[in-house]
Amino acid sequence: MTDYKKMAAPGVQKLSPYIPGKPISELERELGISNIIKLASNENPLGPSPMAMQAIQGKMDELALYPDGNGFELKIALSKKHDLDMDCITLGNGSNDVLVLLAEAYLTPEHNAIYSQYSFAVYPIAIQAVGAEHQMIPALPWQSNTPLGCDLDLMKSAINEQTRMIFIANPNNPTGSFLSESQLYDFIKKVPEDVIVVLDEAYLEYSPEEVRVDGSQWLSEFKNLVITRTFSKAYGLAGFRVGYCLSHPDIANVLNRIRQPFNVNSLALTAAAAAINDFEFLEKSMAVNTHGMKILEAKCEELGLRYVPSKGNFLLVDFGKEAMPIYQQMLELGVITRPVGNYGLPNCLRITIGSESEMQRMIDVMDQVCG
Ligand SMILES: *Cc1c(COP(=O)(O)O)cnc(C)c1O
Repeated sequence: MTDYKKMAAPGVQKLSPYIPGKPISELERELGISNIIKLASNENPLGPSPMAMQAIQGKMDELALYPDGNGFELKIALSKKHDLDMDCITLGNGSNDVLVLLAEAYLTPEHNAIYSQYSFAVYPIAIQAVGAEHQMIPALPWQSNTPLGCDLDLMKSAINEQTRMIFIANPNNPTGSFLSESQLYDFIKKVPEDVIVVLDEAYLEYSPEEVRVDGSQWLSEFKNLVITRTFSKAYGLAGFRVGYCLSHPDIANVLNRIRQPFNVNSLALTAAAAAINDFEFLEKSMAVNTHGMKILEAKCEELGLRYVPSKGNFLLVDFGKEAMPIYQQMLELGVITRPVGNYGLPNCLRITIGSESEMQRMIDVMDQVCG
């Protein structure tokens, strides 16, 4: 009998798939309850940017046509926003697409790529899928200045001849931990030129301006630096799947060779180009997040639960015991959170910051489950 699992490419055989948060509709069917709220996938509780919604009205009749394969309109807008040439920009079907393109373009079975323990689950998947070796570097302990964050010194010392790429998310998911501008800059400066540093800034918009680190400021200094961004979080467009990276034009040129010619759909291109200028929405998203974060942090303090101080739109909470039963109890009370046992954090749940009313519901549920 032919074993189609064994026939898969060697890197693919070793993969376990990414486990997404369950959709609300599926859980409502399973549990037979309604009014479920989802605080599991770091989505924007305000919905999509209104300017994005507005922009796609009247665009439906263009759906018979292929999208602009170069994403001209969106790239113009991004080029203005970042003050970079258009040839530094690569668009993706979510920034996930861009992360995969980077791995496909630069990693082979002769290479390895480095990432931190407790960082985004997509990194090892992208690395292994192309048959490269993935090197997970132990994270800093809870009792450090950046609890569960990247140990940059250890990462630096793990770089060897075969290392081609390093993935760092700042702020990091699922921990929310965060590196300072000087920590990151000093690190990138020490990385050899032939190792590409991928700085994933999916949550950048949520970090307060005074501590926000925008790695794109270093692109002219470091040709091996790639910045990834997304419209899925603060812009509220997760369902559209649009993200991008900023890099040296040579790297963008390489990515463009393997990119699907129409990897970003036409409505997503239009929505994203409009969302960029929706400053009012962005501000509101940040304000709602700051407020909701305070509500959740206060409840954790009250219940004596430790958490990682977060610069993202979610909080990693340690329940001090196996969190799966707590997750299940919360589910039955109508709140979906994200278990992170797959990240090696079996006692923790990652809770997305929702609207004020969602957070009130969340803390009520925490009282019932932990009180
Ligand atoms: C959500 C997230 C992304 C963005 O994914 P998209 O594919 O753009 O939706 C990227 N990196 C991290 C760390 C994330 O948490």
